[in-house]
Amino acid sequence: MTIFSKIVAGEIPSYKCAESDNFYAFLDINPLAKGHTLVIPKREVDYFFDLTDREIAEMQVFAKHVAQAIKQVCPCIKVGQAVLGLEVPHAHIHLVPMQSEGDLNFANAKLQLAPEEMQEIANKISASFHA
Ligand code: AMP
Repeated sequence: MTIFSKIVAGEIPSYKCAESDNFYAFLDINPLAKGHTLVIPKREVDYFFDLTDREIAEMQVFAKHVAQAIKQVCPCIKVGQAVLGLEVPHAHIHLVPMQSEGDLNFANAKLQLAPEEMQEIANKISASFHA
């Protein structure tokens, strides 16, 4: 079971932003920017491009709605999207609010936000999320 499957199962806490039958979104614990969110399929698949065509299509639409909620909550020019997957072997899309191109550089220092602020951001994204 991956760490992200344990999050979906509620065995590990997360700052939940949105959920559907097949997908789950939660704040990245080491955010590049306030509102940096991960979107994952509940089905455990390591490599993003091993997901089925249908899963990728549905996941991208789910991520779109999460990104729209993030944009309402976190002031930014656009929400950027990236797929890396070099650290956690459970497919995920990063959604990062951007003020500039450099905000999507994963070599950047990560923000350290208080748990209360992380929870507040997640609550706001969750309240703005509409499937
Ligand atoms: P990567 O697999 O390279 O796309 O990176 C995995 C991402 O997952 C990193 O940005 C981590 O900060 C994030 N991450 C790892 N564990 C957790 C967790 N328990 N909760 C939230 N985010 C996590």
